[in-house]
Amino acid sequence: MPDLNAVVTQRIDAAPGLMILRVAPDGWKLPEFTPGQFAVLGLPGKAPRTPYSDAEEKPGDPDKMIRRAYSIASSSLSRDHLELFITLVRSGELTPRLFALKPGDRVWLGPKLTGLFTMRDVPPEKHIAMIATGTGVAPYMSMLRTELGGTAPRRYAVLAGARHSWDLAYSAELITMARIHPRMTYLATVSRPQEEPAPWGGLKGYVQALWTGGALEQAWGFKPTAADTHVFLCGNPGMIDDMAKLLAAEGFVEMDARHPEGTIHVERYW
Ligand SMILES: Cc1cc2nc3c(=O)[nH]c(=O)nc-3n(C[C@H](O)[C@H](O)[C@H](O)COP(=O)(O)OP(=O)(O)OC[C@H]3O[C@@H](n4cnc5c(N)ncnc54)[C@H](O)[C@@H]3O)c2cc1C
Repeated sequence: MPDLNAVVTQRIDAAPGLMILRVAPDGWKLPEFTPGQFAVLGLPGKAPRTPYSDAEEKPGDPDKMIRRAYSIASSSLSRDHLELFITLVRSGELTPRLFALKPGDRVWLGPKLTGLFTMRDVPPEKHIAMIATGTGVAPYMSMLRTELGGTAPRRYAVLAGARHSWDLAYSAELITMARIHPRMTYLATVSRPQEEPAPWGGLKGYVQALWTGGALEQAWGFKPTAADTHVFLCGNPGMIDDMAKLLAAEGFVEMDARHPEGTIHVERYW
């Protein structure tokens, strides 16, 4: 089993079952990465599980390393640590163990940071709409933290959906970015407004409705099209499939090896 080669330097409990975790390599250097890429975290089967998770029916091999991918939320310009945004899957194998970690604890961090979900191939004059559910906002934090101050003339928009307002963990930073940068828009919607303890005055419903209902068009002052905008989709595969269908009807094509000119970019979390 590989060594636990990284240390938890900070843990922010953003909401129940939702944390921002910072990990630093111990005795080695983080490689360069492109915003939007992911890291792999691991813990052995014998690592304890948070009491807020389901008990494991069949505990696995105590010495087997359980590994999962996590989008990097920190800027690629800061390479002393990685920031990750993680939701607790109560019945899951790895996240109940990650949620038992505290600052100073050790974890395995894969030495390679990879992934194709990046803005590398987006021409600088094309606008970027970043659509996320839940923790799917993580790669956009890395992209914006790294590139928002740059010279590309494009507009950026984050369209974020979550069940509850308290799950929109990066809202304060995204609202600030949108206030400071005239080319940045942030639209957030909650799908269970009836469960908010104080009335939610913001947008309601699924994130797809921000696209179909014209909220982005209103914010930008024009309707984004496949000719001028690249759309990034990250998180829940149900949202991604819905959005991909909606976008295909508007002439957008998913970027892949056969369609390098495509303007839909996709990262499915499961
Ligand atoms: C490229 C990539 C990047 C990812 N980035 C992130 C990230 O930034 N943050 C993050 O929390 N997860 C992310 N994931 C998902 C992550 O890799 C794990 O699948 C997740 O943490 C569950 O692991 P587990 O071992 O606890 O659950 P498992 O025992 O592996 O159970 C998997 C089940 O958990 C559910 N699930 C998985 N991910 C999520 C999620 N994010 N939200 C709600 N339910 C989920 C699904 O029902 C899935 O079938 C990413 C996945 C990929 C492929």
